[in-house]
Amino acid sequence: MAALFSIVFLTLLALTTGMRVWLALRQLRHVAAHRATVPAEFAERIDLADHQKAADYSRAKIRLGIIELTVDALLLLLFTFGGLLTAFDQFWRDIFAGAGYTHGLALFASVSVAGFCVSLPFSLYRTFSLEAHFGFNKMTPGLYVADLLKQLLLTVLIGVPLLLAVLWLMGAMGERWWLYVWAAWLGFNLLVLLLYPTFIAPLFNKFTPLAEGEMKTRIEALLARCGFASSGEEDSPGRPKSLPAPPGGRAERSEGFGGGIYVMDGSKRSAHGNAYFTGFGRAKRIVFFDTLLDKLAPGEVEAVLAHELGHYKHRHVWKRIAVMAALSLALLWLLGQVIDQSWFYEGLKVGTGGTAQNSAMSTAMALILFSLVLPVFTFPFTPLMSWLSRRHEFEADAYAARQANGNELIAALVKLYRDNAATLTPDPLFSLFYDSHPPASQRIAHLRTVSL
Ligand SMILES: [Zn+2]
Repeated sequence: MAALFSIVFLTLLALTTGMRVWLALRQLRHVAAHRATVPAEFAERIDLADHQKAADYSRAKIRLGIIELTVDALLLLLFTFGGLLTAFDQFWRDIFAGAGYTHGLALFASVSVAGFCVSLPFSLYRTFSLEAHFGFNKMTPGLYVADLLKQLLLTVLIGVPLLLAVLWLMGAMGERWWLYVWAAWLGFNLLVLLLYPTFIAPLFNKFTPLAEGEMKTRIEALLARCGFASSGEEDSPGRPKSLPAPPGGRAERSEGFGGGIYVMDGSKRSAHGNAYFTGFGRAKRIVFFDTLLDKLAPGEVEAVLAHELGHYKHRHVWKRIAVMAALSLALLWLLGQVIDQSWFYEGLKVGTGGTAQNSAMSTAMALILFSLVLPVFTFPFTPLMSWLSRRHEFEADAYAARQANGNELIAALVKLYRDNAATLTPDPLFSLFYDSHPPASQRIAHLRTVSL
């Protein structure tokens, strides 16, 4: 059984890596083949120099991606068949005289540090060479280091208690531990989603309420049309409606959760522009990057805002949570099945025999090993998730066309593509597989049909 699992794993790893490289090569070729001319439908709004910059930028990112995914596959092999995980495990067992919680934390930390060391050169090259070459990087080395330190602190503050809770549940809850871990994981994700917009994102960026000025009446009319109370009054499932209003009324109540429409100083790190919708309940936020806002006319801002409101109206955050919840339940159940199978560890050449059940293998090791090899098995589902995401984009676009103006959204999208140097000519198969947003031409064609 162990030998069979080895073969299955190695075959799938080779297939997924091969498939990813093949898709990337297709994308490289397709973008290069369409570099010479701007697609006819964009010819009026995007000039050749911008189109060629987008092609070169896309290709540079893909080339780096090919190297990175190859290195990642090799690292996975090093962890498993190369014996690195077993070495870490043995090292910390010797230090801590066994496999308790400190051993578990140390094992997670060493795997994370190894992964960080491998990804750091890519991140540095991406930020300070690739992005800088195309004029996008605004990050200073000082800011880069400060970001890293903040991320490290957050990872420790949030990750350590979560990890300890999961390890404890795995050990203490008997056969059905995966159900308890799933509930904890779900609760944790909801908590992060609630806290992220108001307490975590502001550690990295400054958020200021959208300056209303000349757009004020426009935006308020749109919000009223869409029934969106920016402090989240009407959208808290399960929250009793009859609660007496605290002194100061609504503004007071939403304080601390800071829902609403904000502008983020994205220009601090990058010239790329974007807008997004996040959070739920009173914490829900629509965020515009200052870099995007600078370039849009008031009608275009309104259309982009309407698109983001569309995500909210169609409850896309909740739908994503539901999908995530179902997937993580299935995966944790699966971990519950393999955790006591010796073929799982022997097949991946980890440990010195035994399973988590007879404690020759620690639960921490089982958890790490499972999460390391999981992407190899979930890769075939990538297109499904991308498809779902693109469907949500179409829905939000249709909503924006109804509530605002489809042509203004098209104008905003074209600017977004041009200024972010996003390719207008992706390889269809690559796009089908990975793209969370429909390709520009499809998105605009769809907007034209719903705007009629
Ligand atoms: Zn969207």
